[in-house]
Amino acid sequence: MDVQANLVHIQNDIQDICNTIGRDPNEISIIAVTKYVTIERTKEAIQSGVTNIGENRTEQFIEKKEAIHEEANWHFIGTLQSRKVRDIVNDVDMIHSLDRKSIANQIENRASKPVDCFIQVNISGEDSKHGLHPSEVEAFIEELRTYEKVRIVGLMTMAPHVDDEDVLRGTFKELADLRDGMQAKNEPHAPCKYLSMGMSNDYKIAIEEGATHIRIGSKLVGS
Ligand SMILES: *Cc1c(COP(=O)(O)O)cnc(C)c1O
Repeated sequence: MDVQANLVHIQNDIQDICNTIGRDPNEISIIAVTKYVTIERTKEAIQSGVTNIGENRTEQFIEKKEAIHEEANWHFIGTLQSRKVRDIVNDVDMIHSLDRKSIANQIENRASKPVDCFIQVNISGEDSKHGLHPSEVEAFIEELRTYEKVRIVGLMTMAPHVDDEDVLRGTFKELADLRDGMQAKNEPHAPCKYLSMGMSNDYKIAIEEGATHIRIGSKLVGS
């Protein structure tokens, strides 16, 4: 599977959707999720034009970041354990999975500069998914007001594993509505501008519903 061809395909999808609904394609970032693939394959992806790399385990994040010297932005997208925050916090460009006070405390104590974070929200309510319940998001953001190293740049969700387009669209819409509410509060520590949503099977719907960061693994770099 040719990463460059996959990338062009996804970029064309973004262009088409944006033309149809009147969005600016430049406001959408493609994050290549490299959790299933090797260091070599990840390097190949960057050489093919990928500029954002996403990993979901701290060990693999560190391993890849140390081995890869090509220029890229590094995203942590997986469940974080508090004691491992320090291992990645000064090497990451964005954390997509902030969902607990203990993680925020570790970021606050260990980061040498402010870190751009998404709050992960469990819209679908599935037990298997991490993230805050939508009703908890506002209070959590308030609690982080005094944290100088935690900057809330947006909200993230994982949609349920279903093909039902209405369910997927409803999930993304709910996250977008929640984001709109948080953004309107104009909190200096929480600009809350971005929406990290959409994966290989649902990114087109996510873009239609306002995604600014799509996280693509299998359909971009392979599984
Ligand atoms: C694995 C993963 C993805 C990408 O999944 P694909 O379906 O392969 O595109 C996106 N986001 C998170 C949080 C993931 O763990």
